[in-house]
Amino acid sequence: MIADIVIAGAGPNGLMLACELSLAGIRPLVLERLPERTQENRANGLVGQVVRMLDRRGLYERLTGHEDPPRPAPGFVFGALPIDLSVLDDNPLYLLQVPQRRIEQMLEERAVELAVEIRRGHELTGLTQSADGVTLQVSGPAGPYSIETRYLIGADGGHSVVRKLAGIAFPGVTTDAMIARTAHAVVPAELVDPATGGLDIPGYGHVPPFLHHRTERGLFVYAPLPGAPAPLISTMEWNGQDAEGPLTLAELQASARRVLGVTIAFAPPAGPGPHMSRKLNGGNTRLAERFRDGRVLLVGDAAHVHSAIGGPGLNLGLQDVVNLGWKLAAEVRGTAPAGLLDTYESERRPVAERVVMSSRAQSALIAPGSEVTGLRALFTELLGDPRNVRRIADLMSGADVRYETGCDHPLAGRWAPDLDLEDGARLAELTRDGRSHLIDFTGGDWGHPVTAGLPGSAVPCTALLLRPDGYVAWATDVPQPDAESRASLKAAMRRWPA
Ligand SMILES: Cc1cc2nc3c(=O)[nH]c(=O)nc-3n(C[C@H](O)[C@H](O)[C@H](O)COP(=O)(O)OP(=O)(O)OC[C@H]3O[C@@H](n4cnc5c(N)ncnc54)[C@H](O)[C@@H]3O)c2cc1C
Repeated sequence: MIADIVIAGAGPNGLMLACELSLAGIRPLVLERLPERTQENRANGLVGQVVRMLDRRGLYERLTGHEDPPRPAPGFVFGALPIDLSVLDDNPLYLLQVPQRRIEQMLEERAVELAVEIRRGHELTGLTQSADGVTLQVSGPAGPYSIETRYLIGADGGHSVVRKLAGIAFPGVTTDAMIARTAHAVVPAELVDPATGGLDIPGYGHVPPFLHHRTERGLFVYAPLPGAPAPLISTMEWNGQDAEGPLTLAELQASARRVLGVTIAFAPPAGPGPHMSRKLNGGNTRLAERFRDGRVLLVGDAAHVHSAIGGPGLNLGLQDVVNLGWKLAAEVRGTAPAGLLDTYESERRPVAERVVMSSRAQSALIAPGSEVTGLRALFTELLGDPRNVRRIADLMSGADVRYETGCDHPLAGRWAPDLDLEDGARLAELTRDGRSHLIDFTGGDWGHPVTAGLPGSAVPCTALLLRPDGYVAWATDVPQPDAESRASLKAAMRRWPA
């Protein structure tokens, strides 16, 4: 059989890529080795620009169940240090608390709506590349078979078979020093502080809800997630005790006692599961040597893995695929200029490198020991300055990402600001189609039907060209279109087709 594009892996990134390709008019085939959607839950939430990106595809409201637009968070944590985001005029950090299982379910429903074929129980086992395409070996329920495709996308997670088969190295570090334990567990009702939703623990003190809470011996998290069968309790330690065997509540309790110095009696959750009980030993920080080998490209965890601290994984992965989808579709349609597909790696690798830097810095800040306590005191002082809060918020959200688009207007290469269009719609409603849009702030001089008012504080701008991924390809501040500005717009449309 022949398919234009095959995606290996129906995790969040593979499914989102399938949706993006379909919006761009290319229907991919998705191969997933698991016969059913996994019950494993990894992410508890989305952090950063990804929340606004999902809004710009109409997917945010599918997750929240209401039509209100996303709002920035008043506070968050960096390396278990609280950050007060309310000091920022234009806070870029958006959060959405939602389990990964729910994200995957929503993306699968959307992909099916867009007529994507998802083959479950079909595992990619081999590949051979030629100049024109890739031959894939697949093991399915009815036995092995092969597929010819023009492009193969490895969205098959951190242990990516695609990456290995394509001979792409995955350099980085593996550490076995840390043990993270997480389980749903009931805590005694008298410990819950109704004012904050956190815990008031006799002999220890206050533990705020949802945030990583560090002591010199480890980390403790109390997360009473809405809709969960019981609060999620997590600890992280660096002493290697009880590393083997499945996690028990007694073990979690002993770990919490070592971290906090007091005993909290945990009880098993009542009612039907699934109840979380997970122990992770160590972790990996690795970045693929390259994101592309000929007609094979890597996205998401197949391209990069790092600590989950601060929740950057899906902000990075889902924006990888929104960056790649329209470029790959243009390539398959034959409308892509030379080099367009290579901008996937040139644009996304630096973003992945910053996530690696940020997660390493946060891992250092949560480590045990009195030196780290000193470092944290210094960081706390620095975070008293709103300019530093801004830098950290930009880093965690990805609002500091600026792609090289060939245009020197200050908005070019940046995430397009939220705009209200002349017809009363939000920009996020216009962009659900996954296409490019020319936005006209002059009321019609650019002869384009989509006109809008720029938010008050924005830099001077009379028109902008929006790429399908929500970034500005080109912008101008000339009061009236002239020959030069029209020519530069045309050049931008050729360079960034959609
Ligand atoms: C404990 C933990 C907590 C986390 N918390 C957060 C968080 O709060 N926020 C956040 O944003 N991120 C978080 N992450 C990261 C996030 O879970 C990952 O970044 C995300 O799952 C990556 O998605 P993916 O689609 O790239 O890969 P995966 O989710 O790993 O999906 C890969 C898919 O490919 C399939 N597959 C594998 N091999 C083959 C093959 N040969 N053929 C066909 N199919 C194949 C697999 O079965 C799987 O379904 C967390 C991760 C962990 C481990």
